[in-house]
Amino acid sequence: MKLILLGAPGAGKGTVAKLLTQLDGSVQISTGDILRAAVAAGTELGKKAEAAMKAGDLVSDDLIMGIMSERLKQDDCKNGYLLDGFPRTIPQAEALTKMLADMGEKLDAVVNIDVPRDVILDRLTTRRTCTKCNAIYNVKSNPPKVEGVCDKCGGPVVQRDDETEQAISNRLDVYNQKTAPLASFYEKAGMLMTVTATSSDTVIAAIKSKLGIK
Ligand code: AMP
Repeated sequence: MKLILLGAPGAGKGTVAKLLTQLDGSVQISTGDILRAAVAAGTELGKKAEAAMKAGDLVSDDLIMGIMSERLKQDDCKNGYLLDGFPRTIPQAEALTKMLADMGEKLDAVVNIDVPRDVILDRLTTRRTCTKCNAIYNVKSNPPKVEGVCDKCGGPVVQRDDETEQAISNRLDVYNQKTAPLASFYEKAGMLMTVTATSSDTVIAAIKSKLGIK
């Protein structure tokens, strides 16, 4: 399947994407994960993105489109992809539409995961991420077995730099200004499905039903 997962930071896009990859071999493509890996590796891309990321601002559209035009050409995209955290602005969405048309590809749907703001704030402040494999934990509802150590790969599980209260508040404002308008952009294109849900299972069930997957 080829989907865009739309939703505020903390709406559960990453968790839903990971579950969907198990259904049909589609790959999760998270621009946030790609950028964090670039920052950790100290590459040119990482250096350009780091300050904006730390503040909870968006990285430039040009940088993101450069990453995505390469990524979508890779072999593992043949079985489908789940775009997690991309597009995040109208210019990115327009550039993606053109890129997909040039590649002769078509998305199945744009899934807007709608979660109440108080749930999101609670989730983001209690979320922890493995810096090695990007597995996601929650100190309240899903802590790693050993504090600070990833169950899956043994890597360090930490609070992300952009999950301080100030950066979170900025990320939500940026989302409302720059990314939320994508819902009406894709609604006009007849591609939007909105799921109001606080559990990833509900979101997965709605997507399966919409795409006719058993
Ligand atoms: P995420 O893990 O998706 O919340 O992304 C973390 C950070 O990476 C964001 O707060 C932005 O600074 C940056 N980022 C990720 N995806 C994009 C994008 N599509 N456009 C601009 N900035 C992005």
